[in-house]
Amino acid sequence: MSKIEKKFNHKYITALGDERAYVKFNGLNTLWFNTGTLCNISCEGCYIESSPTNNKLLYLTQKDVEKYLKQIKKYNLSCNTIGITGGEPFMNKEIISILSLFIKENYNILVLTNAMQPMLNKIKELIKFSNYSKLTLRISLDHFNKEEHEKIRGINTWDKAIKGIRWLVNNNFRINIASRIINKDEKIVRDGFAKLFKENNLDINAYNNDHLVLFPEMNLQDNTPEITKSCWEILDSNPKDMMCANSRMIVKRKEDSKTHVVSCTLIPYENNFSYGSNLKNSFKRVYLNHPFCSKFCVLGGASCSNKP
Ligand code: SF4
Ligand code: SF4
Repeated sequence: MSKIEKKFNHKYITALGDERAYVKFNGLNTLWFNTGTLCNISCEGCYIESSPTNNKLLYLTQKDVEKYLKQIKKYNLSCNTIGITGGEPFMNKEIISILSLFIKENYNILVLTNAMQPMLNKIKELIKFSNYSKLTLRISLDHFNKEEHEKIRGINTWDKAIKGIRWLVNNNFRINIASRIINKDEKIVRDGFAKLFKENNLDINAYNNDHLVLFPEMNLQDNTPEITKSCWEILDSNPKDMMCANSRMIVKRKEDSKTHVVSCTLIPYENNFSYGSNLKNSFKRVYLNHPFCSKFCVLGGASCSNKP
C-alpha cells in the first residue's frame, strides 16, 4: 500500500498506509435538519462557524422539509426522531410551521437552541406546542457561571439565555441543558449547575444525564490521530455507536441553493460526506477521513443525538 502524505486526505487509507476505519449504515433512527447557519451570536469554537453573517447553509423552508417527510414514507424508513439544529433555529421564519409538520406526524423532536431573543420572539406561537410531550428543547450553556459563559458566547448572552430557560420551564416544556465537562471534572460541573438551577428556581436535576447533558471539552485546534480499522478493538469502541451509523442531516447550501443529505450534524460543508438530495442514496458506509470523526466521535465520544 502506498504511503499517503497528508493526514485525513485519502478516503480509504491513512497517512501511514493503514486501512481507514469506516462506519456501516445501520438504519435511520434520527433525521436532522439544519435550518440555516445564521445565529444571533458567535461563540468561540462553534464547530459549524455560525454567526450573524454566516449564511453558508441557507434557511430551510417548509417545502424543503416536506420533501424529506415524503421520502421517509415512500421508502418506509424507521426514523422516529427529528433533530433540529442551526445556527439558531428560531431565526428561521418558517420554524413554527416546520415544527408543526413534525408534530402532526407524531415524531420525537429535539431542537437545539440558545433560548435567547430569536426564541423569545416566537413564544406566542411556541406556547401551543407546550403540551406535546415528544418535543425536547436542548439549551447550551457553556458554563454554570455567567462570566465564564460570556467569555465564550460574548457579553450580554447570559441573562437572555436564563430568561429563555425560565420561560420554557415555567411553561412546562421538556428541556435539557447541554454543557461541557471542564478540566475533566464532571462533579464540579454538576455541582455548579445544581446551584445555578436552585438559585433560579428551575426544576432541572443537574445529576441526571438526561437533564444536564455534558460533552467532553474539545479544542478544535488540537492535532488528532487518524482512526484505522484496528482502532475499534484497541479503543473498545463500537462503530454502531457513531452518529453516522443511524442518523443523517439535511442542509441547504448557499453555493447551489439545493438541499443535500450529509452524514451527520458535524460535517455539513464537505462534499466527501454529502450524498446528493435523496435520502436513500445516503445509506452507505462512511469512511472516517475527517478530523472531527476522530476528535468528536471516536476519541471524544460525543454525539448530538438525544435519547428518544
Ligand atoms: S449559539 Fe450555537 S450555533 Fe450559535 S454560534 Fe453559538 S454554538 Fe454556534
Ligand atoms: S464526525 Fe460524523 S461522519 Fe465522522 S464519525 Fe462522527 S458522526 Fe460519523
